[in-house]
Amino acid sequence: MQTQTLRPTEDGFATAADILTHGGLVAFPTETVYGLGGDARNGAAVAGIYAAKGRPSFNPLIVHVADLNMAQEFAQFDTTALALAAEFWPGPLTIVLPVRPDTSLSKLVTAGLTTVAIRVPAHPVARALLSKFGGPIAAPSANPSGGISPTRAAHVRDGLSDRIDAIINGGKCAVGLESTIVMPDDDGVHILRDGGITTEQIAAIVNVHDTIETSHDAPTSPGQLASHYAPNARLRMNALIAGDDEHMIGFGEISGQINLSSSGDLTQAAANLFAYLHMADEDAQTLGKTKIAVAPIPMHGLGIAINDRLKRASAARD
Ligand code: AMP
Ligand code: MG
Repeated sequence: MQTQTLRPTEDGFATAADILTHGGLVAFPTETVYGLGGDARNGAAVAGIYAAKGRPSFNPLIVHVADLNMAQEFAQFDTTALALAAEFWPGPLTIVLPVRPDTSLSKLVTAGLTTVAIRVPAHPVARALLSKFGGPIAAPSANPSGGISPTRAAHVRDGLSDRIDAIINGGKCAVGLESTIVMPDDDGVHILRDGGITTEQIAAIVNVHDTIETSHDAPTSPGQLASHYAPNARLRMNALIAGDDEHMIGFGEISGQINLSSSGDLTQAAANLFAYLHMADEDAQTLGKTKIAVAPIPMHGLGIAINDRLKRASAARD
């Protein structure tokens, strides 16, 4: 596809919003870095973000919204979160909160977790796009995986040209640092990642715990939640046929009770992955099966991230 460059005008925002509505990808400036945006309710769009970045794993993505009202459609706010939002939104603070049970967010955007990382950006271009689009935009930094975060439209073009539909050129980003990520609990917040809002600024509003929560898998990368989604049932990868005590998730021509993509489309498989793992887990329990078998997924493109996730789920209880 050819990547178009849009100007931050009424016309530009209308075109960008239209692309997002149809499941396309648009890079846009925020006050931190350029984000690569897709409709956070559309699993295929979110899978497209991972594909464009060439990410080898599914980290949950930050969901950008126009205002606190829109944030409350998707996440449950307690008094700590409300105090933080009142002080720092719009701005570079991301808050990790329980997902509302009736949410329309794609499960891929939260990587199957029951929490969502959400923020209201301050950049006028990001705000104009969000209000024109009228929905939540998932947006990690607009660079290929492993690359440097882009602070200008030209950086985005260098890294992602022809892999995304459009870039809104809104000049240089002011902060260049990523957003600070916090997770509230009963008596304060944990800082999951340092960024544009300092710990001192946050501590002036709420109690800050001095432990940094890190992931088991990546203790050096704060911003990762300690727990990640794993099914209750044991999981077996690269299965060609289900055993007696197995509920099977198929892919392509290898069928199962459900199929991640019967046409063998990896973007569709990625979009379905977390929802199908949840579904298979529930069905396995109902049917008295102890395991989930998953058909082989090819190791290229999004297949790498899908296999990475399945491997973690299958290793969870070893
Ligand atoms: P990026 O969008 O690339 O700036 O990075 C998003 C960061 O937010 C990653 O470090 C994620 O691990 C973190 N994140 C997103 N969602 C969650 C969540 N539900 N719980 C904890 N961390 C999260
Ligand atoms: Mg990044």
